[in-house]
Amino acid sequence: MLKIGGEEMSPLDAVSTQVSICFDKADTFFKSRFRRSSCDFSQRGRAAGTAHLHKNQIRFNPFMYNQNPQAFLESVVPHEVAHMVVYQIYGLNVKPHGKEWQAVMRKVFGLSPNRTHTFEVPPPKQAFEYHCACQTHQFTKRRHSKAQKGTEYICKLCQSSLKFSIEILNTK
Ligand SMILES: [Zn+2]
Ligand SMILES: [Zn+2]
Repeated sequence: MLKIGGEEMSPLDAVSTQVSICFDKADTFFKSRFRRSSCDFSQRGRAAGTAHLHKNQIRFNPFMYNQNPQAFLESVVPHEVAHMVVYQIYGLNVKPHGKEWQAVMRKVFGLSPNRTHTFEVPPPKQAFEYHCACQTHQFTKRRHSKAQKGTEYICKLCQSSLKFSIEILNTK
């Protein structure tokens, strides 16, 4: 549980509150009134969050939130709200992480506009173990099927080609 203003908050309340704070800052900066986005914790996989522009909805990744709630609130939430703000001003005519988005990050939120995050990525549900002469490698399903269709992968370290050994299922 995270404490904001002395109150115990659920993770969803904490991100929702942070989303509103970010929109309030954008309102003040642009002297405008942006439509508030709904948010939930339905994001899975490698992304910490995604902004679904047409639905005006932000999906956050609970796996990454739990690693460091404070860092998540300070970096991921403004990152996604910035996408919403840019979309409401410019529509789809600008690049997702272009100069407009970067300006919102810098000027509205006072943050450096990083495209990536430092949270650990959850292990894929299904992975494929390969080995070379020096170590084991994990392949995603996509990479594995490419290898099975004949794409050759070479270990950068020992320069030998990777051979499939076993399929791993992560149950968590
Ligand atoms: Zn982004
Ligand atoms: Zn190797």
